[in-house]
Amino acid sequence: MRTKIVAGNWKMNKNLQESHNLTLDILSKLNANSATRVIIAPTFTNLHAVANQTKNTKVEVAAQNLHQADNGAFTGEISADMIKSVGVNIVILGHSERRAYFGETDELLTQKVNAALTNDLEIIFCFGEELKDRKSGKHFEVVENQLKNGIFHIEAAAWKSVVLAYEPVWAIGTGETASPEQAQEMHDFIRKTINRKYGKSVADSVSILYGGSVKPDNAKEIFSKPDVDGGLIGGASLKADDFLAIVDAV
Ligand code: PEP
Repeated sequence: MRTKIVAGNWKMNKNLQESHNLTLDILSKLNANSATRVIIAPTFTNLHAVANQTKNTKVEVAAQNLHQADNGAFTGEISADMIKSVGVNIVILGHSERRAYFGETDELLTQKVNAALTNDLEIIFCFGEELKDRKSGKHFEVVENQLKNGIFHIEAAAWKSVVLAYEPVWAIGTGETASPEQAQEMHDFIRKTINRKYGKSVADSVSILYGGSVKPDNAKEIFSKPDVDGGLIGGASLKADDFLAIVDAV
């Protein structure tokens, strides 16, 4: 059975004290017996502290990005090794905000994917079409190209370190969610696309998360779909009660 996962992307929210408080709130209310993996992604400056705070708990910590180089003259950037060195083993790559605001291309993402895998970081790889793509009926083509050009260069064995997050850009932070049927249709398409390239055992074992305005009141319906293995949560991950209600919905 595929692993169910709920991951909270805190983006550029929460200073050190606020991160500490939110993590404490999550830890104190989380059902420790839940089979769902629970991941939180604070900003870089708070990674070390939150990694320490969650050590030996059910909560895992992810970085929101990395730089593809091992080290060097890249002012303001953070390498995979630096992330590992503070006790963090997961990284989110390809988020639509990184693609849109920081010019991250599929080609660049292949390098970031390689840096993550070389450093034994698990990857939450994000992708998804824009509204114009869906309106013009190109959403399947766009998603297929993002996969082929961004991550299909990896070997089959590396998929054990990859979680996919389908996030239609038009649903991120907009309050507009893909319907459960739209999510299922795309997740099924993604799994079939992986099957064609890597075979059934890889396709059946990779967890595919849905992201885009998931809230406590719509999570259950979306997560009930057979190819939706959990969610990547933005806004609703900033309040422990909302985030944990979404975890419970799995
Ligand atoms: C996200 O940014 O990955 C996301 C899904 O955001 P939101 O839940 O706020 O739409």
